[in-house]
Amino acid sequence: MNFKSIPTEFEYLSWPEVKNISKEIRSTIIWPFGAVEQHGPHLPLATDSIFVDEIICEVLKLIPSDKPIKKLPTQYFGFSPEHKGFDGTISLSSKLITLMIKEVGVQLADMGFKRLILINAHGGQISLLSTAARELRSIAPNLSVFPCFLWSGVDGLSDLLTKKEIDNGLHASLAETSLMMALKSELVGDERPSEGIQNQIPEGWSLEGNAPIAWLTEDLSESGVIGDSKGSTVELGKSLKSLLVDHWYKLILNLMQSDWPN
Ligand SMILES: [Zn+2]
Repeated sequence: MNFKSIPTEFEYLSWPEVKNISKEIRSTIIWPFGAVEQHGPHLPLATDSIFVDEIICEVLKLIPSDKPIKKLPTQYFGFSPEHKGFDGTISLSSKLITLMIKEVGVQLADMGFKRLILINAHGGQISLLSTAARELRSIAPNLSVFPCFLWSGVDGLSDLLTKKEIDNGLHASLAETSLMMALKSELVGDERPSEGIQNQIPEGWSLEGNAPIAWLTEDLSESGVIGDSKGSTVELGKSLKSLLVDHWYKLILNLMQSDWPN
């Protein structure tokens, strides 16, 4: 006899399984978003995609299997126009990504799913995913949509990372290099560039933050790194990984145990 266990991956389910799960109360789809874009000379193009995929797979292993939550295939191609000019970057238009989120989301809502969590690891598409989530919600009001950023609101990050890294480590620097060393060390090269930190920014203005500029990587960096990747370690990467897994496990479990918002 061969007993099939019900997989966490949406695409491994059969259609009757989807039919049953989607009708459950609190039925939830989680859709990870990354990018295929330059990450300096030492990290792979899919860095953000690998991060979100690995962290969410770990989180879902911890969520009790009777909870109706399934993961869509991680969306590798993202919106990365700021990295144009570096070979390997493949960026989709904001229009196409918005349309894709709406088309997929409406079909999930039609199947009966109640919630869609967009969990994104690429800082350059945070506002795009929020906008797409709002547009989707307006055409599928019965589907609650949560546009989340993997690194946002994670308690304890400031204990592991310096203020300099938190403020200026925008891309392929200490945190990302360390996390990749912990997840897939075989994909990490030996270079450790430090670039892109601007001294001449007038007070109150910044690359990101309250009064930001729509920066392009080539304004700031030749290597593609924005921040400082020196001092990256596997140990730091492992600590970042457990912080991220713990954070998202708690948030997602809380949602699965709650009737809010439906
Ligand atoms: Zn990244």
